Order: sequence, then structure tokens, then C-alpha cells
Amino acid sequence: MINRLAERFDHVVLTQDWHPSNHLSFASEHPGKKPYESILVEYGPQILWPDHCVQATRGAEFHKDLRVPHAGLVLRKGIHRKIDSYSTFYENDRKTPTGLVGYLRDRGFTRVFLAGLAFDFCVRYSAEDARREGFAVVVVEDACRGIDIEGSMAATRESLEKLGVVRITTEAVD
Ligand SMILES: [Zn+2]
Repeated sequence: MINRLAERFDHVVLTQDWHPSNHLSFASEHPGKKPYESILVEYGPQILWPDHCVQATRGAEFHKDLRVPHAGLVLRKGIHRKIDSYSTFYENDRKTPTGLVGYLRDRGFTRVFLAGLAFDFCVRYSAEDARREGFAVVVVEDACRGIDIEGSMAATRESLEKLGVVRITTEAVD
């Protein structure tokens, strides 16, 4: 679905979680903690995840069937051990930039379409940050999948609605 969707766009950015093996978002780094529990870190609450997307391992690779050869940028996020990054624009302190805002502005883009994983975390935070930065934002909802921790799907829809993020399905993209 993402392949077909991406074909309809001239400009595509791919993002990739790219964590050090001892990343603070990994439950395995916190003795006694389990995945999907929340802890308090310097920048606020952080949900703990199973180990995933460790730098330069197979787990960090794109899905083997993803074909977006015309993508102009691959942005790696979550590269610092002590801070997670759901959003593709800012890390989880909501202040440390990834540089993507500058990239998009320099290229003259004013609207972004978002799709991928996970709807209620990375897509949500990216959409919120993009709105905050003044971009028009469209989330292609059937090209996303969510996790749904403690009502996070419903909270995401509510937040996006409030911020004026448009939600569509792939058939609406022509
Ligand atoms: Zn991650």
C-alpha cells in the first residue's frame, strides 16, 4: 500500500528508527520493567518498548518489500541513547530538531502527507509537530497501523482533529 501511495508523490521522505543498542526506550535497559510500561525520564513520561530498530542490524532495515526508489531523503531518528524520537521533526523533548523542518522549508514544501507506523505514536507526534510548524497536514489513515496503548488511538484522533489535521484514505489521493 505504501509503495502504491508513494508512486503518486513526486517528493517522498522515508523515516527510520535507528537506535543505539542500549537505547533508553528499551524496556531491557530498565531492570524490572516490561515493554509498554511507562517511566519518567528527564523530558517527561516515556513508554518502554521491546528492543527494536538497533542501528545497522536487520531489525532497523526497511521492510523487504518497500519500494520507493524516488525517495529523496531517508531520515534516521532516535539516534541518541538518552532520548527517544517518535516524531520525525522533533525528538521526544519536543525541542531537539531532526532538521526535517528546515529540509522541507528549503525545498519550498507547505503540505505533508503522513503514513506508516505507528499511527498513535510516530505518525501522531509527526502530525502535531508539522502543524505546529505551520505545514498543512494530511494523514492517510488506512496506510497507517496503530498500537493502541491505554486509549492512544482515540486520543490521537481527537488531537489531530483539534489541530486541523485532515484524515483521508488512500483512494482519496489522486
Ligand atoms: Zn523506536
